[in-house]
Amino acid sequence: LTRLYTPLTALANVRVDVMTALVSFERVFEVLDLKPMITEKPDARAVPDGGVSVEFSDVRFSYPAAEKFSLASLEDVSTLDGRGGDEVLHGISFRAEPGQMVALVGSSGAGKSTIASLLPRLYDADSGAVRLSDVDVRDLSFESIRSAVGVVTQDGHLFHDTIRANLEYARPGAGEDEIWDALERSRLAELVRSLPDGLDTLVGERGYRLSGGERQRLTIARLLLAQSRVIVLDEATAHLDSESEAAVGEALTHALAGRTALVIAHRLSTVRAADQILVIEAGRVVEHGTHEELLAAGGRYAELYHTQFAEEPAAA
Ligand code: ADP
Ligand code: MG
Repeated sequence: LTRLYTPLTALANVRVDVMTALVSFERVFEVLDLKPMITEKPDARAVPDGGVSVEFSDVRFSYPAAEKFSLASLEDVSTLDGRGGDEVLHGISFRAEPGQMVALVGSSGAGKSTIASLLPRLYDADSGAVRLSDVDVRDLSFESIRSAVGVVTQDGHLFHDTIRANLEYARPGAGEDEIWDALERSRLAELVRSLPDGLDTLVGERGYRLSGGERQRLTIARLLLAQSRVIVLDEATAHLDSESEAAVGEALTHALAGRTALVIAHRLSTVRAADQILVIEAGRVVEHGTHEELLAAGGRYAELYHTQFAEEPAAA
């Protein structure tokens, strides 16, 4: 460790938040007593009861510089200069009232997923604020954010545990009926029934390896079970075939009713249903309005509508 110590002291000034996610670094942090940047305040509060508003107020954000490096070698880390990476979000502002659905559209790399990741506080903004029911997420407890905000992304993050444990995480004490209902609605029940250990099947590297689509459906089942007050969907059905996408999409639409939602969708039907559409380009909101308003404006959204969504049947 002595050999590693010198370069690592340089880390004191570096944004080290995400690196704590890497197990090998956790030990190092213990040794050096470096605190990760995303911390819970001692007096952290809960998201206020009732419907939740979502607000981004002039949010600027850069990924920690360390993320640009391969962390396979500690030597890489010693070359960091202590500054963050290039700014990815340049002053994002919008507000969703309780129960509203906001759709984010824009080209790949525009910053949509990054915006979505700030809501459950996977990262903190460099400046500006992200608020849930007018409370800065930095003042909220982790547990309260976790229970208020349900997230489904393209990669479907799961624990190396049983299917049951992955679902109960969403709603501790969920009954058997509720679990099977969520699995039915995410079109996963048949698969789980066919597994020798059923709900007690271990998933992940040491257990049953779920396909991308199955993993995504399991995180959707978790979301349906959780009944979170805020829902973040980042291309939540991207890995599903069109048949299960239609069925699961319907279940998701049902789940969104009455909840505040931030949705990144590749389907026009979803985007069209949004109360507000934000067109994101290069880390900025370049247009903002309803489907009709934006089409009439004849700007970037209209262009996307004719290109990105062109293949979809008009009846969607
Ligand atoms: P979108 O979801 O609209 O396709 P993203 O939010 O994923 O866009 O990406 C926005 C920008 O941030 C891109 O330039 C991308 O390369 C960069 N980016 C995304 N994730 C990371 C990361 N983990 N570390 C560093 N840069 C990232
Ligand atoms: Mg994305």
